Amino acid sequence: MIFTQSLHNHTTFDDGKNTPAEMAAAAFDAGLAGLGLTAHSPMENEFWTVKPERMAEYRAELARLKIEYAGRLNVWCGLEYDLTSDRKWLDGFDYVIASVHALETTRGLWALDDNRERSRRMIVIAFEGDRDAAAEAYYAKVKEISAIPEADVVGHFDLITKFDEPEPLYDAASPRYRAAALDAMEALVQAGKIFEINTGAMSRGYRTSPYPAPPLLRALREMGGRVTITADAHSRENLAFAFDQAEAAARAAGFTELWEFDGVGFSPRAL
Ligand SMILES: [Zn+2]
Ligand SMILES: [Zn+2]
Repeated sequence: MIFTQSLHNHTTFDDGKNTPAEMAAAAFDAGLAGLGLTAHSPMENEFWTVKPERMAEYRAELARLKIEYAGRLNVWCGLEYDLTSDRKWLDGFDYVIASVHALETTRGLWALDDNRERSRRMIVIAFEGDRDAAAEAYYAKVKEISAIPEADVVGHFDLITKFDEPEPLYDAASPRYRAAALDAMEALVQAGKIFEINTGAMSRGYRTSPYPAPPLLRALREMGGRVTITADAHSRENLAFAFDQAEAAARAAGFTELWEFDGVGFSPRAL
């Protein structure tokens, strides 16, 4: 494993199991060079996001840990911004990962990563069984990240495939699926966004490979896109889960560098 930063993680401030202090201690013990925590941006009635009234406390705790670990471990205060959250939450973080976790349709708001049955029902009910139409709606939303200047990184680009093992809900090889994904990808690359190779669904037992799928990762490489590696950990054991496999996926797609956070922006590191 050559990538020693863990930039996308959750804590007890949102839907993670461990406190920021526990995550920092685990990152230090694991020999990581950098730890970024990325609380889910506040959303009304969503238990998995930071409560607005706790945001100041989140920032203060991260500021405290930065000082406590100075010279031993870089600690960063990040945000995982959901596109349905208020834009006011985007300000004042070291970096922002922007993600789409839900789709607003004429037949309700659908969470994309709750469970397989809900994802299946969304296709059936909201898209009348047309899975390519669901994919088109999802990637159109993901494309909107290109218009958010504060967003540095695109979160789990093909999250809709979370429950595609062993039996796919989506046909990622269909021309419509691919066109929608590549259209979003192109806009995001043009806007300078970095893509995650995200192992979060692996550590939680849903997938055997990281996001994005290999064909999308190859397309990203051909477009000149940039990648980083993240664990999307919700507990301290998973801070660098399957990073070796993520690095192998990057190499297999032809990438020769990974982008790491340097405290101000992102800079390349040879792979
Ligand atoms: Zn996410
Ligand atoms: Zn996350």
